[in-house]
Amino acid sequence: MSGASLIQYALSLKAPINTWTKSQIKAIYNYPLMDLVFHAQLQHRSHHNPREVQLCTLLSIKTGGCSEDCKYCAQSSRNDTGLKAEKLLTLDTVMEKARIAKQNGSTRFCMGAAWRDMHGRKSGLKKISEMVSTINTELGMETCVTLGMINSEQAKTLKQAGLTAYNHNIDTSKEHYPNIISTRSFDERLQTIQNVENEGISVCTGGILGLGETEEDRISFLHTLSNLDKHPESLPINRLVPIKGTPIVEELEKNQKKLEFDSILRTIATARLIMPESIIRLAAGRYTMKDYEQFLCFMAGSNAIFTGEKMLTTMCNGWDEDKALLSKWGLVPMESFRGKKEDIDVEKASPFFQPPQKKHDMVSIV
Ligand code: SF4
Repeated sequence: MSGASLIQYALSLKAPINTWTKSQIKAIYNYPLMDLVFHAQLQHRSHHNPREVQLCTLLSIKTGGCSEDCKYCAQSSRNDTGLKAEKLLTLDTVMEKARIAKQNGSTRFCMGAAWRDMHGRKSGLKKISEMVSTINTELGMETCVTLGMINSEQAKTLKQAGLTAYNHNIDTSKEHYPNIISTRSFDERLQTIQNVENEGISVCTGGILGLGETEEDRISFLHTLSNLDKHPESLPINRLVPIKGTPIVEELEKNQKKLEFDSILRTIATARLIMPESIIRLAAGRYTMKDYEQFLCFMAGSNAIFTGEKMLTTMCNGWDEDKALLSKWGLVPMESFRGKKEDIDVEKASPFFQPPQKKHDMVSIV
């Protein structure tokens, strides 16, 4: 089936599907870029208020000293980046940072700990659960944590604390994954995602572009995400921030592999077409993008950003800068707990928002 027919099919679907094949995704991904972005924007308008962008702030609550060997990460104890390991932050410190984030307009507060998993971290889990419930009750913000691999019991504890979302990225394609991480498998990652999903916590999962992956890898990455039982509620797209002392930097230099901006755009637009309801989040590396590049990412279907003082260990665009940028383009912050398209206040939405009942009849793919 041609890229044009597949795009029409994607636009005609009444609900997300998880049966996309690699060849279908490839045909969409390789569609002429202008048309790809245009149709991704149409899809975006059928499922989201095109004016809204979710503002999230990410805080590293336990920095460095991680036992994993992710080749890109400053926090791995195996990578000589000069980053010192720190202890888990206190509840007071976290609340202070969350309050600042809320005052600046962020509605989702994400907390990251540099751990392989939560095995033997009962007291850590208790403290983090307390952070989650206090942020919920005192600030009314959505919460997300990223703590490495978790089992069903641990997910249940976080759910009971009121956690909105759990982040666990698949990072890249299943095929390229062993070139990047050896200390835990791709399937282990999927298992954590399943454990989170089973407990009714929203899944935040995406990856990093620029890890020396090929176009086939980006298609395979999108294939895995779009074939999950349920599409990720949140899909972060990171652009690699090369950090001195991490093995990936040397490898990329040696292989002369450079990520073209077009590939980021194609990945976002394809994700928007095949996973229409996911919130696509421009994550790490956004500060390296020019304003017009960010603009194009929003046109292709992104509708969330990390904003604030820092992105774990890398730089982040600040709140004031982001607010000015969004307002220049007529974009507004998404309210917290906005949920799905049914919850969108059509009166307040952009006049260009197309409520779902206006969708066309479904196009047959067979
Ligand atoms: S990406 Fe996460 S799991 Fe991997 S080394 Fe960094 S902190 Fe550890």
